[in-house]
Amino acid sequence: MSQLRHAAATDDPQAIAACEVPAGFRAAVVLAEDQKALAGTPVETRDPRKTIHVQEVPTPALDHGEVLIAVMASSINYNTVWSALFEPVPTFRFLRMNGRLSPEAARHDLPYHVLGSDLSGVVLRTGPGVREWKPGDEVVAHCLQPDLQTPGGHDDTLLDPGQRVWGYETNFGGLAEISLIKANQLMPKPAHLTWEEAASLGVALSTAYRQLVSHHGAAMKQGQRVLIWGAAGGVGAYATQLALNGGAIPICVVSSQAKAELCRSMGADLVIDRSAENFTFWDEQDQPRLGDWNRFRNRIRDLAGGDPDIVIEHPGRDTFGVSVMVVARGGSVVTCASTTGYMHTYDNRHLWMQVKRIVGSHMANYSEAWAANELVVQGSIHPVLSQSYTLDAVGEATRDVGSNSHHGKVGVLCLAERGGLGVRDHELRARKLDQINIFQGSRGGQL
Ligand code: NAP
Repeated sequence: MSQLRHAAATDDPQAIAACEVPAGFRAAVVLAEDQKALAGTPVETRDPRKTIHVQEVPTPALDHGEVLIAVMASSINYNTVWSALFEPVPTFRFLRMNGRLSPEAARHDLPYHVLGSDLSGVVLRTGPGVREWKPGDEVVAHCLQPDLQTPGGHDDTLLDPGQRVWGYETNFGGLAEISLIKANQLMPKPAHLTWEEAASLGVALSTAYRQLVSHHGAAMKQGQRVLIWGAAGGVGAYATQLALNGGAIPICVVSSQAKAELCRSMGADLVIDRSAENFTFWDEQDQPRLGDWNRFRNRIRDLAGGDPDIVIEHPGRDTFGVSVMVVARGGSVVTCASTTGYMHTYDNRHLWMQVKRIVGSHMANYSEAWAANELVVQGSIHPVLSQSYTLDAVGEATRDVGSNSHHGKVGVLCLAERGGLGVRDHELRARKLDQINIFQGSRGGQL
């Protein structure tokens, strides 16, 4: 392993690819023994700093169509928070269920789970049958692993009953020095970005792209109004940029002045600070505070001159009823999550009488993820990385995301010796630096 770390310090992809594959590597893991010990304890008492461990694990064998990546950087997604809390489903359950399917899948069913659904890095080795990538290529990852052994997924891999989210429903994710990934998850690393910036794109950007831009989501058009909850968070900040880049009008909802300022820096003029304006959509008895629902709708109308055609939903229980009410007649609420709770209450009259649509959206397929990555490669969409941690501090980084005390995306340096490495296209970076820097430093700066 020391050979690989030494090569990574040179930041030279060919030196990295020339290394022997080490027998083991360091990785951020959760442990099956912790899951058992915490069973029955209230979820609020669980702490990712205690449940995420950084330890040496053996390097898995390469199978057909797979690739080993020397991971330079990764990032924290909310699914890492779920994995660390063993909620709503302990991810060992996925590893166990999938492990029964084949000897190849059984390699993932272990008493530790290497987390992480994003990475940037260098192809270290390719398995049999890999044609499109070779050792030394600089890559980022798309998190969806299709299976495609049944007809289901051949129109859209999200319909594939065998699809898995890498690093959440599979082992050997990106929060590690080495990751095991399928070749058809790889995409070119944007050459003007650092490793940690490039690793902050995948899950959040491709999810926002499918929700907003793809025909599987809202198929956004120029001039449409788009209400974006959590517009300075991971998914929300990319949705804001995608709306602006596509000629739409984002209406950003955030919970602090600092986050409101980040939205304005991205070019969004219409921002609602739900904390400062004291929007509370539910009372202590869990009943809707309809006065605040109406006040919120009027606030949007005053600000934007009309109702939103699209709502980017992910907070879930706290906001879903409001989203259904405020979206325009014939408009779409596109939901990818339920951070505040899965059981949603909404007034169905708003939906049926005004022919609104609720659209479920999950991650993205490879071609959507690739299209989103191309926007970054071209310099139209920018990373929203606010802060980076070392691999040893993944627990702390995950706690920050889980407690909503971060901005944009939180990065993790894996083999990258320090922040700022990996930039190849300095000319494009210099042209786009102002936008790339908007989030950086907003939570205490880089390592
Ligand atoms: P994030 O960076 O933590 O951002 C979430 C944002 O939600 C926060 O910035 C916060 O913004 C807002 N929020 C939190 N509680 C809220 C509330 N009660 N009311 C209104 N807004 C609230 O997380 P993310 O990476 O964007 O992910 C968001 C959710 O989407 C997570 O649940 C994640 O698991 C899910 N997700 C799903 C997929 C998928 O494919 N299905 C993919 C990626 C993410 P303010 O406090 O500033 O308002």
